[in-house]
Amino acid sequence: MTDNREYKTDCRLFTGFSPCHYRRSCRSCPHYEAVDTRILLVQLGLLGDVLRTTSLLPAIRRRYPRAHITWLTRPEAAEVLRENPLVDRVLRLGEATGALLASLQFDIALCPDKELPACSLMQLVQCEDKRGFTIDANGSIVPLGESAHRLYELGLDNYQKFFVNEKTEQHLMTEALGFEYAHDRYIVVLTDRERRWALEDRRIAGVGDSEVLIGWNTGCSARYPYKKLTVEDQVHLMETVWQRTVRKDRVRFALLGGGAEDETRNRRIGEMLSERQIPVTQTPCLQGVRRGLAAVAGCDMVVSGDSLGMHMAIGLKKPTVAWFGITCHQEIDLYGRGIKVLSEVPCRPCWLQRCQLKRKCYRHLPWPEMSAAIVDMATSILEEGRWAGDHVLGAFPPENRIEPPLGVSPGPVL
Ligand code: SF4
Ligand code: SF4
Repeated sequence: MTDNREYKTDCRLFTGFSPCHYRRSCRSCPHYEAVDTRILLVQLGLLGDVLRTTSLLPAIRRRYPRAHITWLTRPEAAEVLRENPLVDRVLRLGEATGALLASLQFDIALCPDKELPACSLMQLVQCEDKRGFTIDANGSIVPLGESAHRLYELGLDNYQKFFVNEKTEQHLMTEALGFEYAHDRYIVVLTDRERRWALEDRRIAGVGDSEVLIGWNTGCSARYPYKKLTVEDQVHLMETVWQRTVRKDRVRFALLGGGAEDETRNRRIGEMLSERQIPVTQTPCLQGVRRGLAAVAGCDMVVSGDSLGMHMAIGLKKPTVAWFGITCHQEIDLYGRGIKVLSEVPCRPCWLQRCQLKRKCYRHLPWPEMSAAIVDMATSILEEGRWAGDHVLGAFPPENRIEPPLGVSPGPVL
């Protein structure tokens, strides 16, 4: 029988089911890291939200350097967290979640996720110090403590959220959970295999070190369908960029996306661009989120709506041109590497899933300025090897803004 005293079960790297990173005996181990705080982070959200929430991890580690951090999320989002050195354990939401939360003990439980499933799970967590959001006796989402109030109120007050708030989502989230905000970045780590995929994508696109591959994300989550452009507008915009590009021999496009719908759309866009003699390749859309990350990693810059592709680009530190229709651009941090392009409609932002207006925001981006910005970024990368600075294009004068019409707002994610 094995003597358990040989094992340091309080070490941050101890799992109990497989050897730790060092693959050695715990006895006299020089790498032993005794855990003093067990922290649970509940963020089930959309993949982009999970990616962005990784920016919270450095603040947690600064405050609790000897913490063991467990992240509870959906199975598909768990892929985003793979290789993350600041997360010690990922729990995938599933049948065993209730049993796990009933048996695991935590010192601090954090829930920045203002959705019903995540907030309900906070009720099951055994922990004295809960922060962020939970549900009350009415089954309504409510903040936990004073620090979460500001973020809570923004969710309930469109005027404050759309026109007054100037803080990014990660700034608000970090403060809501009681940590010090220090402009921390997303934490995304690729494996060697994924880096090879990225290089292979560049090889297929025919791009060398002194050329620029523009990643073009064409899709968005089904939850917010107005976050993507029409096929015709995507082609028009790419063609305009191509026409304005002086060094055509050194610029290529790669179509990005994830899922069957994006695969079909990208094939169509690819065919239309090829007919126009514009060099474009498609990256795999059906091989999962890690393959998608590798595809973004292979690009020198990315053009995207406010969607997962944009968050991947931010996480991988790619210069990014991001366009915004229904969403609040001020909540997004491009970390000094991007250009935000705002739709020129007076009713934005609105966060509607469906609206009745004929003049939809995603058809009214400032196309000339946007294409010029994309060309500028590509040229800067070609000539200087980088792009620096944040810019906003297409801001609508505040005095001309109008209230968005009533429409369909997102329901709970269940
Ligand atoms: S780091 Fe050392 S003490 Fe910790 S689990 Fe690994 S072998 Fe054991
Ligand atoms: S109300 Fe305006 S911003 Fe909102 S979806 Fe409709 S067109 Fe777009």
